[in-house]
Parts: sequence; structure tokens; C-alpha cells
Amino acid sequence: GCPGRLLELKGNIRVLCRLRPGTPSSLVSSEPGPGGTVTTCYRGHQRRFHLDWVFPPDASQEEVFRELEPAVLSCLRGYSVCIFTYGQTGTGKTYSMEGPPEDPGIAPRALQSLFREMRAGGHARVTLSMVEIYNEAVRDLLAPGPPERLVVRQGPAGQGGIQVAGLTYWDVPNLETLHQMLSLGRSNRATAATAMNQRSSRSHALVTLTLQAAPPPRGAGTTGTLHLVDLAGSERARKAGALCSARGGAQDAQRLREARTINRSLLALGGVMTALRARRPHVPFRDSQLTRLLQPALGPGATAVLLLQISTRPEDLGETVCSLQFAERVG
Ligand code: ADP
Ligand code: MG
Repeated sequence: GCPGRLLELKGNIRVLCRLRPGTPSSLVSSEPGPGGTVTTCYRGHQRRFHLDWVFPPDASQEEVFRELEPAVLSCLRGYSVCIFTYGQTGTGKTYSMEGPPEDPGIAPRALQSLFREMRAGGHARVTLSMVEIYNEAVRDLLAPGPPERLVVRQGPAGQGGIQVAGLTYWDVPNLETLHQMLSLGRSNRATAATAMNQRSSRSHALVTLTLQAAPPPRGAGTTGTLHLVDLAGSERARKAGALCSARGGAQDAQRLREARTINRSLLALGGVMTALRARRPHVPFRDSQLTRLLQPALGPGATAVLLLQISTRPEDLGETVCSLQFAERVG
């Protein structure tokens, strides 16, 4: 393969960065491609951040997916893969993960690619679940009835897993059904977003696919999982706090609470990734619902890809630096 391609990602955390199109750029410079860099100058400090890959503002959805596809397909060999989109609201997390129908993003491309491979390789069973985490409450986006709040529990001792009581897992026979289920989940998230004033930017959306080989080779079933996570906006709680004290009122108290809980799961995610990277004995999975849910998927041998979305607008520079610092810590 070509050098720098993300071919085998077993047991790794990779940080990719995508710059949002739009001028003028507030960055000092950026070097696209493998081992790319982003250089910022903020409050008089110039800093260069190193990433595993930098996608320039004109990178296509296809180019982004090309770098992720090997990791996605490793699920068919029993690996566990998590792909996250991280960044400030408006930087293109959902664009990268879902994309508009005429220019699909990572999720639809991943599904297509997996089903194409499965047709060739005889994989039998695909299950799908989809949840939203909002204010540390986990909600089933594919429940047959009205969405219910779910309880995340530690699984049976020794199995290291978690159990989500009442979560709906759908068997998905083909790609068409899968796309239908995903848009159902998405519209369930959007409905809540409208009702709750753009809640979608403050919630994490987590799509989980389980891929099971059939027949299991020599009795040991190969089960791979793919988690696609569109994270909540990473805007700092400080901002929401300032908003709160300036305006007061119950609605703003709600905002502040949200900002804190969003921050809690993003911080927890950072903490977990840092601990995994440093091979620390204690990984703080229990610090948030997000990391609890992803615990089985982030264990040894798993692959995590963080797609950092950054804005190049001058007014976003502070947030951009924060996002890059987060990436530096985990990557
Ligand atoms: P987020 O989910 O991070 O809040 P969105 O994905 O909703 O951000 O993107 C915000 C806006 O920017 C949307 O209108 C989206 O279509 C647009 N956008 C983001 N990234 C790109 C891109 N690479 N090319 C074209 N439009 C983009
Ligand atoms: Mg979004």
C-alpha cells in the first residue's frame, strides 16, 4: 500500500483533521495529507499541531472516506472500530458523518462498502442500533414505540461488557433497509432537535453496527463492530456560562447544565483515549454515558479514529485551538 495510508489500525487511535471550506482563513498555515500539520497564532502564541492526516478545505467526501475505508472494512475480520466526528458546532461534523443525499458522508459510504464486501465474503448477520445521548440520558432512536430513556449497566462480571436495558437491535437484511433505518433514526433525532431548540448540536448520536460472520469459523464466531459517532458541539462550557449569567432565567440554567454534561462526556472521551494511548492500567470508562457505552468498543485491539472538524473563521480561532489541543492530547 501507499505509505501513510491507514491500512491496519489495530489497537490505535488516529486523529484526522478536516478544515471547513470558507474564507478567509485564520490559520497561519496548514500542510495537508499524511502527517499533516495545522499552525495557529492565537493570543500571540504560534503553535503547530501534528495530525495523522489533514484534509484541506476542498477535500471531497470521497477523499475523506478513502482514508477510513480500511478501518471500516477491518470490522469484517472481527475488529472493533469507532469513528468520531469532533468539533465546534457548524464545523461540518454532521456533513462529514452523514453528508447531504447528493454527496454522502462517512456513514452511508461505510455501509455501502461493508455490504459490497459482505456480498463477496458471505457474512450473514448485521444488526443495527442507534442512540442519542443528551444531558447524560441515553435514548433509543430506533425504538418501535415512543423513545424511552435507557439504562446502561455493567455486563456480567468477567465479560467486560455493558448492557443497555431495552435497547432495540434490528436485524438488517440489506443495504436498502439499513439506509431506511438510519434515516428513521436521524429523523427521530431531528424531531427532538426542533422541539428542544437545536438540541442535535448538543447531543451525541451513536450508530452501532454488528457484523457477524457465518458460519463461524471453527466455532469461534467473528463479530466485528462499527460505531459511528457524531459528537455534540465541543464549544466550551465557559461560553454557555457567560450566556447564562448575562441573561439569567430557567432556559439558560438548562443551557448551562447541557454545556456541563456535554463537556463531561467529551472530557471523559479525551480521558479514556489518553489513558488507552498511554496504556494506563485504569481507563476511566465510567466517567460518562458515552464512554460507558463505548467501553467494549474501545478496549485492547480496537481502533478509534477521531475526525477533528475545524473552522478557519477568525472569530472561531479560540475554539479551533481548543479542538486541536484536544486532538494533541489523545492522538
Ligand atoms: P456540525 O454538525 O459540526 O454542527 P454541519 O455538518 O451541520 O456542522 O455543517 C454546518 C454547515 O456547513 C452545513 O450547512 C454544511 O452543509 C456546511 N459544510 C460543512 N462542511 C462542509 C464541506 N466540507 N463542504 C461543504 N459544506 C460544508
Ligand atoms: Mg451536527
